Amino acid sequence: MPHLVGGIEAGGTKFVCIIGTGPDDIRAEIRFPTTTPAETLARAIEFFKNQEQATGQAVEAIGVACFGPIDLHPGSPTYGYITTTPKPGWQFTDVVGPLRAGLGVPIAFDHDVVVAGIGEGTFGAAVGLSDFIYLTIGTGIGGGVIINHKPVHGLVHPEIGHLRLPHDLARDPFAGNCSFHGDCFEGLASGPALEKRWGQPGYTLPPDHPAWEIEAEYLALAAQNLVVTTSPQMLIFGGGVMEQTHLFPRIHKRVVELLNGYVQSPSILRKIESYIVPPGLGNRSGGLGAIAMAQQLLTA
Ligand code: ZN
Repeated sequence: MPHLVGGIEAGGTKFVCIIGTGPDDIRAEIRFPTTTPAETLARAIEFFKNQEQATGQAVEAIGVACFGPIDLHPGSPTYGYITTTPKPGWQFTDVVGPLRAGLGVPIAFDHDVVVAGIGEGTFGAAVGLSDFIYLTIGTGIGGGVIINHKPVHGLVHPEIGHLRLPHDLARDPFAGNCSFHGDCFEGLASGPALEKRWGQPGYTLPPDHPAWEIEAEYLALAAQNLVVTTSPQMLIFGGGVMEQTHLFPRIHKRVVELLNGYVQSPSILRKIESYIVPPGLGNRSGGLGAIAMAQQLLTA
């Protein structure tokens, strides 16, 4: 039997806490707004304690999918902290410490996008694959890179949202809105970039609006770079912008054109539709990834 565990999606605007053993066995769930660190973490702890009292069953571990930046270096004095976030009140906030102290169980902790990738690899689109990338294209752009079944952290962690892409200023004069780089991938292709370029939110633009050809171009350029650098077995594109599902066929066509036959794999040459895909778990990749990570802690 899989262990009963908890998952926390710690987002900048809301927290989602779930209890269960997997996608088909979620026993309880709560969501609440992210307020102060003390209040928000206390509310998460209270949820797990109340459930234990109500059911007589305690979670054995908890996985946390956290907004960043976070400190993941074991042995660092600020391991388990949110570090230099612009979110007021949350700079250098210990997340793991209070949860461990409050609940007395082991805590697995990683970036929200990485955990979403773990969710997809355990229960979703990438089950059985050893090497894949989960990208979220929404308010920001982030990516979890899974290599040999393990998330890549490396020096800090990959920041795919800040790739530099060719920017044809004649076609797209928008200067980009990344506060660090201007026209990096996120600066050109995130939800806020779309809104700033066109003067209205992306979801209000019809599928035949020129916005989407330009958006698909940047997504395809990023995908082609990821294919040639890490050779993933699959690319999963999620996040609010990708709810425009008409982007997928445009990206597929353009990635094949950009690679121009160089990468000789049937996944790209013949089955690109099942190579660049939406998340198998919809918007539950993060929460279910947190459940998967907590279970891995107990079976490791
Ligand atoms: Zn940037």
